Amino acid sequence: MADLQAILDDIHAELGPRLGEGKVADYIPQLAHVDPKKFGMSLITVDGAEHKVGDCDEPFSIQSISKVFTLTMALGKHGETTWNRVGREPSGSAFNSIVQLENEGGKPRNPFINAGAIAVSDLVLAGHTPREAIGEIVRFVRYLADDETIVIDPSVAKSEEATGFRNAALANFMRAFGKLTHPVEHVLGVYFHHCALAMTCTQLAHAGLFLAAGGSNPLTGHSVVSSQRARRINALMLTCGHYDGSGEFAYRVGLPGKSGVGGGILAVAPGKAAVTVWSPGLNHNGNSLLGSLALEMFAARTGWSVFGPA
Ligand code: GLN
Repeated sequence: MADLQAILDDIHAELGPRLGEGKVADYIPQLAHVDPKKFGMSLITVDGAEHKVGDCDEPFSIQSISKVFTLTMALGKHGETTWNRVGREPSGSAFNSIVQLENEGGKPRNPFINAGAIAVSDLVLAGHTPREAIGEIVRFVRYLADDETIVIDPSVAKSEEATGFRNAALANFMRAFGKLTHPVEHVLGVYFHHCALAMTCTQLAHAGLFLAAGGSNPLTGHSVVSSQRARRINALMLTCGHYDGSGEFAYRVGLPGKSGVGGGILAVAPGKAAVTVWSPGLNHNGNSLLGSLALEMFAARTGWSVFGPA
């Protein structure tokens, strides 16, 4: 077994001179205030070994990484009928793109682009007020991570609400196709709030561990989903988790992963570990620039790519 702590320490040291590279998301004003030089990584193995480095215990805005958790909830509530509302194909388009919706009858390509996650928020809302649905999401993430301290950052949610014109356009467009069952404002309220969840790399690794361990969290014994469902969520993360950069991430890293514009990435090494990284500077696809590089180095040094050994 490779010395995982040494691998994280080496990656941190090697990337040190490059911290600050990439462009911090500023279309959500509240995210623009984040220090671009932050860098953290956490890793939890399915045997419970924990390794971390840098700013791994500082909360950041998990943004689209939350879409993994809302998809898991929607599948729990609606089962396979979830797929009547959202597809399972990579989009090849930007995360906030509207172009495919028109030709595809308002059905988003996958649950990880904004349009797809908004459709998933509509599914999570079923039978709830927006406040209840948001509460349910927070409780679910706390349960996954076994950590009652996880909260939504209200200033980020407000900032998104004030500037989320593209997301409002996506939601209205889907509504025009009859693809949302709740009022647009309610659906967007749920969406903006789950994107504004603040978590540390360590909390996020705990929350994602069930995906590495066949659907159950081995540390808490909580059974979250079946092994088949965990495998399928991982498949979607691999093919769609980095938007129009998903092919590149699979090529370079070779692990299922989900990024967010806060600069976080949750990666899953099935049967081995959940690995998270946070570095706020983004590449042109809106994925963490150094975070992707850190995971590329990590996968190369551990030989953990799902496509074969190093
Ligand atoms: N909340 C962000 C948005 O809607 C999420 C985007 C992301 O993380 N890629 O634009």
